[in-house]
Amino acid sequence: MVPERWDLEYDVVVAGYGYAGGMAAITAHDAGARVAIFEKMAHFGGNSMLSGGSCAVGTEYEPTLAYLERTCADATDREVLETFARGMVEFPGTLARLAGEVGFETVVSRRGATYPFPGADQMFAVRVTRNETYKGFPWAKGIKAGGTLFWVLAEQVNRRPQIEVCCNAPVRDLVTDGNGAVVGLVVEIEGQRLNVLARRAVVLCTGGFEHNQRLRSHYLQIQRTVAMSPLGHTGDGILMAQKAGAALWHMWHLHGGYGFQVPDLPIAIRHSFEGYREENRRMPWIAVDRFGRRFMDEYPPAPQDTGIRALEYYDPDIQDYPRIPCYLVFDEEGRRLGPIAHPKINDDRYSLEWSEDNLAEVERGYITRADTLEELSEGLGIPGETLLETVERWNANCRLGRDRDYRRPVGTMVPVKTPPFYCIAAWPVITNTQGGPVHNARQQVLDPYGQPILRLYKAGEMGSLFGHLYLLAGNLTECFVGGEIAGRNAAAERPWC
Ligand SMILES: Cc1cc2nc3c(=O)[nH]c(=O)nc-3n(C[C@H](O)[C@H](O)[C@H](O)COP(=O)(O)OP(=O)(O)OC[C@H]3O[C@@H](n4cnc5c(N)ncnc54)[C@H](O)[C@@H]3O)c2cc1C
Repeated sequence: MVPERWDLEYDVVVAGYGYAGGMAAITAHDAGARVAIFEKMAHFGGNSMLSGGSCAVGTEYEPTLAYLERTCADATDREVLETFARGMVEFPGTLARLAGEVGFETVVSRRGATYPFPGADQMFAVRVTRNETYKGFPWAKGIKAGGTLFWVLAEQVNRRPQIEVCCNAPVRDLVTDGNGAVVGLVVEIEGQRLNVLARRAVVLCTGGFEHNQRLRSHYLQIQRTVAMSPLGHTGDGILMAQKAGAALWHMWHLHGGYGFQVPDLPIAIRHSFEGYREENRRMPWIAVDRFGRRFMDEYPPAPQDTGIRALEYYDPDIQDYPRIPCYLVFDEEGRRLGPIAHPKINDDRYSLEWSEDNLAEVERGYITRADTLEELSEGLGIPGETLLETVERWNANCRLGRDRDYRRPVGTMVPVKTPPFYCIAAWPVITNTQGGPVHNARQQVLDPYGQPILRLYKAGEMGSLFGHLYLLAGNLTECFVGGEIAGRNAAAERPWC
């Protein structure tokens, strides 16, 4: 219902300040709109700031579209893919401009694509390089290239002082008129609910629902997940869009792998073999289920997509998930190969350092140590005989130079033979959920009959176009390309008052 009085008035109102929200705001501003961004958390950056900063792009339209069609496998409307394919080809230029204007440069960070599908050889990835003007964000820990990319975006927002950025300002509801058009929203600031007029449109960019247990249990096949994203990711935008009449898509789909949860940290930590698979990087552990059996290639081609899938298995004989948690087992030499985890935290209330040799984590009790494998298995309640057989076969695979069971690349294989032995429980870690409101090629949110909900746009991972495979580095490009389209179209709406 339209309120009698508006507390704040803008043309375009953006909810959420990650890459998608920032880009939508910049574009709407440059198109002449008066813009505000409301961010729920004390600090902006969302998942975006934690990212690897790598953006997947294509050299030419046709192969890029072919690759997208195969990776999206009929889960996304063709018009949306066509628009995104064009965006992926144009994006290197856009990023170079955004970075160049604030004194940064871009580089090609990878040639080719993750999956062996048509068009893969025409794909590549770009990122922003760091320079001495980058100062980092004091509230975020463990961030890498995503921090640099966010610096560029934040500088671009800061160069436009007319964009009002308000943190600690969760958007609570959308305001619709009698025709169902979105004409404003309700934001909570310092405990007060304020009615905010959006003369032209609202753009929702609130990320995923990783920390909403109810949505996770309603929509995800895999259960007992933990999440590494900031705690504000509770699917608010998805729920608000649903209330306004939105259809949902890709709700089952996850970007994630496996990793750890430790006491007193409500944010999960993924293991340190992240991003693209490096086929000659030695991974110290094997993963075993609760029966002591190996069940997967521990370092699959897209560690942050397929990495989570093997844990999903539901065993009908025991009516339970025998791989949740699973256990990573390694030996003394493996322990010395480097930190097994990299905490990444975008929240000034929490921090955690992981030691280079994993010893502090043994002392803290995160990692169990035992002199023999039998002792290790006893402590964990894993059948010792099976664990011994598993480790023997693994060590034989290492001697052979071939993983006969799960095709793990030979360069990553490390035997488990030198005592003491170590083990840590690993859980399915959600990096971000991909599902949310369906959108069209103009980034308008659609109702269940494919009709746009008037004056409501969205961008980023709150309803990603990816609904089959996680296109490694595709999310960031989607945030920028989708944010730009949403911001432009939102600003072009005729003011309703
Ligand atoms: C460690 C890591 C590495 C990654 N590496 C890559 C990579 O290299 N390439 C790639 O493509 N992808 C990568 N990703 C994924 C990528 O970071 C995300 O998919 C993307 O950044 C999501 O951006 P977004 O703008 O949609 O959401 P976010 O950046 O998460 O921003 C959403 C914002 O909305 C806010 N919000 C939520 N609810 C409300 C509300 N009610 N009101 C107001 N604000 C609200 C949140 O607090 C948050 O700040 C990575 C992710 C992680 C965690």
